[in-house]
Amino acid sequence: MLEIYEIGDMITLKKAHPCGSYQWTVVRIGAEIGLECLTCKHRILLSRHDLRKKLKRAPEKRSEPRAQQEE
Ligand SMILES: [Zn+2]
Repeated sequence: MLEIYEIGDMITLKKAHPCGSYQWTVVRIGAEIGLECLTCKHRILLSRHDLRKKLKRAPEKRSEPRAQQEE
């Protein structure tokens, strides 16, 4: 699983937030990863280690990776 997080990535956790949302947006990158709940805007900080354990799906990039260009 990819462990490269970028601001704006949307990630899905295994466990729902009390508000019912599984989806979070990456808002801060550092020693810890800052996540903002998509539904209630609550923010949490998780270490990469904890995030990896809680992650259900790899980060979804907002922009799709560019296909290889043919010359
Ligand atoms: Zn929430």
